[in-house]
Amino acid sequence: MRPGNVTDVLSELRRDGAKVIAGGQSLVPVLAMRLAQPTTLVDINAVEELHTLRTEPGGVRLGAAVRQRTAQRDPAIAEVPLLGMALPWIGHREIRSRGTVCGSLAHADPAAELPAVAICMEATLTIAGPKGERTVDAVDFFTAAMTTTVQPEELITSVFFPRATETQGFGFAEIARRHGDFALSGVAIRVDAKDRMRPSARITCFGISDIPRVRDVSEQLSAAVGRDGPDAPEARLRTVLAAAAKELAADVVDTGGDEHGSQAYRRQLITALASRELARAYAKAVRASSHTDEEKA
Ligand SMILES: Cc1cc2nc3c(=O)[nH]c(=O)nc-3n(C[C@H](O)[C@H](O)[C@H](O)COP(=O)(O)OP(=O)(O)OC[C@H]3O[C@@H](n4cnc5c(N)ncnc54)[C@H](O)[C@@H]3O)c2cc1C
Repeated sequence: MRPGNVTDVLSELRRDGAKVIAGGQSLVPVLAMRLAQPTTLVDINAVEELHTLRTEPGGVRLGAAVRQRTAQRDPAIAEVPLLGMALPWIGHREIRSRGTVCGSLAHADPAAELPAVAICMEATLTIAGPKGERTVDAVDFFTAAMTTTVQPEELITSVFFPRATETQGFGFAEIARRHGDFALSGVAIRVDAKDRMRPSARITCFGISDIPRVRDVSEQLSAAVGRDGPDAPEARLRTVLAAAAKELAADVVDTGGDEHGSQAYRRQLITALASRELARAYAKAVRASSHTDEEKA
């Protein structure tokens, strides 16, 4: 079915065994492997309002049919730098040209980039269903591997990412065996250096558990900054952060491991990526807040 508006999408979704298809980049492989047998596919691509990508007061909203590549190329994404940093890591250009941002959130692959970014940035999802519309914070949206709070009769209509502030800096990195593969492990980081000696820091790790794991690491970053001061070289801060990153890795990595990498290896990856990207994000946040101070002066 290819309805032209959200109301008709919702009435098609009432059919027993119906499923939304957006970009098809995850669902079609699932169908090919016979892992799901929906009775009806409800294609949302003819619904014009779902293709909207717009800035709103406080952030950027992406409709459910907005492709990952469209988002990557839209100037509005500069408002959410972490999203811009993560999008190029998703599969290949051909995948991103069809795959949607909301489809990736709905699919909830534990190794996917966008769920981690959405949690790190405190994004909210708008979901339409038979009982009306509801919003869910990204942190509450993912409940298990490939599982979210979206019900079979519901449709994610959009996701809203809050705009970055001028004292924030970001870090994103992942390790995959080949470019375009799903990540073995990765991190998405947001640091706020409004107070340079007591920065706030939030890290989301992915590819390491059934859902992305988020932690507030403000204390750890502040303690590390306190040792050498905010102007210490990034490499020095990274070294100082290594112990805290190792503790974080022991806490968040609970996957049993697979043929691509053991639990111990993934812990090493998170230790290395978290310390490097936290130091980098802090340095960026300090630079951004210095510019702001200069402008004010
Ligand atoms: C070769 C290859 C490599 C890939 N590499 C990566 C990668 O490195 N990182 C990564 O994150 N992803 C990767 N992907 C997946 C890709 O990002 C998908 O596009 C994405 O996961 C799903 O988006 P989609 O729009 O294609 O959704 P679809 O495939 O259409 O749907 C996926 C699931 O989400 C549901 N759904 C979709 N939209 C909605 C909605 N609006 N409301 C409710 N339910 C909805 C569908 O019913 C289905 O269950 C890869 C895919 C391929 C084929």
